[in-house]
Amino acid sequence: MVEIKTDTALEAMREAGRVVARALAAARRTAAVGVSLRELDEAAATVLTEAGARSPFLGYRPSFAPTPFPGVVCASVNDALVHGIPNDYRLRDGDLVSVDCGAELDGWTGDAAISFIVGTPRPADVELIAATQRALDAGIAAATVGHRIGDISHAVDTVARAAGCGMPADFGGHGIGRRMHEDPYVPNQGRPGRGFPLRHGLTLAVEPMLMSGGRGDYRTDPDGWTLRTIDGSRAAHIEHTIAVTRDGPRILTAL
Ligand code: MG
Ligand code: MG
Repeated sequence: MVEIKTDTALEAMREAGRVVARALAAARRTAAVGVSLRELDEAAATVLTEAGARSPFLGYRPSFAPTPFPGVVCASVNDALVHGIPNDYRLRDGDLVSVDCGAELDGWTGDAAISFIVGTPRPADVELIAATQRALDAGIAAATVGHRIGDISHAVDTVARAAGCGMPADFGGHGIGRRMHEDPYVPNQGRPGRGFPLRHGLTLAVEPMLMSGGRGDYRTDPDGWTLRTIDGSRAAHIEHTIAVTRDGPRILTAL
């Protein structure tokens, strides 16, 4: 079932979204060569705690997962695409890191992700992150009243294809509100003019995951969570929670 949010609920989701943005900024500031993924998690967790927010990631256990998720962020490095566990791995020069974070505040949820490079960037990684950002921007721009979910999917996919990147077929964005994952599903591939109609008060997480190798194939680590590209190519993941409004798309997880 899809819940259309009231304007009051949108304001509450904006506050939850601000907490997510601050937590991601804290993780980004903490990241440096030699810093562990666990330390990024701790930086984000401190922001959530100080804001009085709960983490929808910590303890989360979807059907595919063998164990509850152990952190407040996912930290996915290099060929890891999404769902990386924030463990004791220490960042190295040139690592491409994607950090995904959620927050639940006063009963409403935000979900967002950033990708960045630690230390000396490889030009190909800079371009991969830029393409992922363009895919997100295009998806958000398509999230207008009168369009359908398929218009968002098609916009994201068009940018990914133009960049020569692959995307996993079975992970994408989602409705969001009282819970992190709600209907409708927001695939990263789709046909324009198809799917659930967009209207004022619909809130969505849009999240392109681009794989530089050009294929959409991935495998799961023995930890049961971390998804990696099959070909070892690098991946980037950028996400915002947005609201469809009669004034256009509104980003709820901006700072
Ligand atoms: Mg997320
Ligand atoms: Mg999400």
